[in-house]
Amino acid sequence: MSQYDVIVIGSGIGGLVTATQLAAKGIKVLVLERYLIPGGSAGYFEREGYRFDVGASMIFGFGTQGTTNLLTRALDAVDVSIETIPDSVQIHYHLPDNLDLKVHREYDKFLDELYVRFPNEEKGIKQFYDECWKVFNCLNTMELLSLEEVRYLTRVFFQHPLACLGLVKYLPLNVGDIARKHIKNPELLKFIDMECYCWSVVPAEKTPMINAGMVFSDRHYGGINYPKGGVGQIALKLVEGLEKHGGQIQYQARVTEIVTKGNCAIAVKLADGTEYQAQRIVSNATRWDTFEKLIPQPKPKKEEKWQHNYKQSPSFLSLHLGVEAKVLPPTTECHHIMLENWANLETEQGTIFVSIPTLLDPSLAPEGYHIVHAFTPSYIDHWKGISEQQYEYKKEEAAGRIIERLETIFPGIDAGLDYMEIGTPRTHRRFLGRDNGTYGPIPRRKLMGLLSMPFNRTSIKNLYCVGDSTFPGQGLNAVAFSGFSCAHRIATDLGY
Ligand SMILES: Cc1cc2nc3c(=O)[nH]c(=O)nc-3n(C[C@H](O)[C@H](O)[C@H](O)COP(=O)(O)OP(=O)(O)OC[C@H]3O[C@@H](n4cnc5c(N)ncnc54)[C@H](O)[C@@H]3O)c2cc1C
Repeated sequence: MSQYDVIVIGSGIGGLVTATQLAAKGIKVLVLERYLIPGGSAGYFEREGYRFDVGASMIFGFGTQGTTNLLTRALDAVDVSIETIPDSVQIHYHLPDNLDLKVHREYDKFLDELYVRFPNEEKGIKQFYDECWKVFNCLNTMELLSLEEVRYLTRVFFQHPLACLGLVKYLPLNVGDIARKHIKNPELLKFIDMECYCWSVVPAEKTPMINAGMVFSDRHYGGINYPKGGVGQIALKLVEGLEKHGGQIQYQARVTEIVTKGNCAIAVKLADGTEYQAQRIVSNATRWDTFEKLIPQPKPKKEEKWQHNYKQSPSFLSLHLGVEAKVLPPTTECHHIMLENWANLETEQGTIFVSIPTLLDPSLAPEGYHIVHAFTPSYIDHWKGISEQQYEYKKEEAAGRIIERLETIFPGIDAGLDYMEIGTPRTHRRFLGRDNGTYGPIPRRKLMGLLSMPFNRTSIKNLYCVGDSTFPGQGLNAVAFSGFSCAHRIATDLGY
């Protein structure tokens, strides 16, 4: 007899959306989380009166209309909600050759800034971003559930035939294909690369058009909205909803093995030796952790093929800073991207991402101070094979370089520092339980859009994956999509 209908390994947003969706249907769910609190990359930590977001701060999916507002919907489904604060600008870009512009929530205002910089490309800019809207409008008409469920697909097709055909057209395409069709200016094409890189960690050529349709349009539709009390609230509220609906979560419960019988997952084993059985098992760990560490049998062929197409993206070097408020001019925006030289777009510690959530929610820092999260892509290899002393020195040195670069957009930030915590790929690996601290999978070469990204079922019977190494990829709203679809698939398989 199984003790649970479903066990979810990990309480990232992907895992929690799966668990809450199932619990809302009356399915008996247990979530096992290795860390002390839920959320994974969307978690938080507190130091000296500051509450820092571990990773994500630019949050999509909190809109009030349409069908793509998946965080709002996930919370609603288990009778909880979060107050959010709208952000009027998604990103303030500080790019080479003084390419300085803001992505305003108002679509036309954003386009106007681009037209001023690229007057000869006005038509192409409009055509490119309007084409992204076509993708979004298709997605935003239908309930987003499991694309592995034939009855659902048939129903959606008959309800929205044009939207479905639209999506089928864009599924194998990447942003670069569409951008080059409309735009010729090399600097503008570089800008589109950065528009993609800052969430997909690959340039336009390798970024699927479906994801771009969501990101480039939803920022002007549902908008970017910050959860009051910090990003950690999303996971905490989902856990509250899970428990309200009879689900359970255990912390400090590290799964060390997914037990299989033949080719079927039947149970999980924890580090302390406890074993739990369930009819279905879901892994919210990355595919590398799931298939190389948790399953004793050789990796299924399908996973080898997947690894042939996808590799690990870099992790991040993160600076969590407490800064005197007077350092930031009153017109400062919450999110910034900076790069001095296009050649460094994808290099180790090249592009810098900055989030200052206290500009939206001052309660996250002591009065008179801000939190600043500055992070930049970094590979674990850069931090391996050195002594602890060298590691500490290297961290300080790298942090110093980032602060020096930040001085160009926030003069006086160094002198205004009150607190600093430095995280490296090793920190991400340790606290987030992600292989090499990776942000997630990226294509090894140009692939056909999202066609080779796996859905939730795996080659092992009764084992499912959810989160950023499943369709449609990284980002909180994306992993929420994966959670909705995973729960839908499992509920159907269990006969609900
Ligand atoms: C620095 C940074 C900035 C980001 N910024 C943004 C942003 O602004 N906007 C945005 O939308 N996205 C952003 N992201 C991406 C986003 O945070 C992730 O894509 C998303 O949170 C991943 O969710 P997930 O459910 O796939 O998994 P994770 O968040 O990785 O959660 C997996 C959970 O499983 C647990 N776990 C793993 N293995 C085990 C085990 N063996 N036993 C028990 N538990 C286990 C982990 O502890 C973790 O809690 C950012 C990410 C980072 C790192």
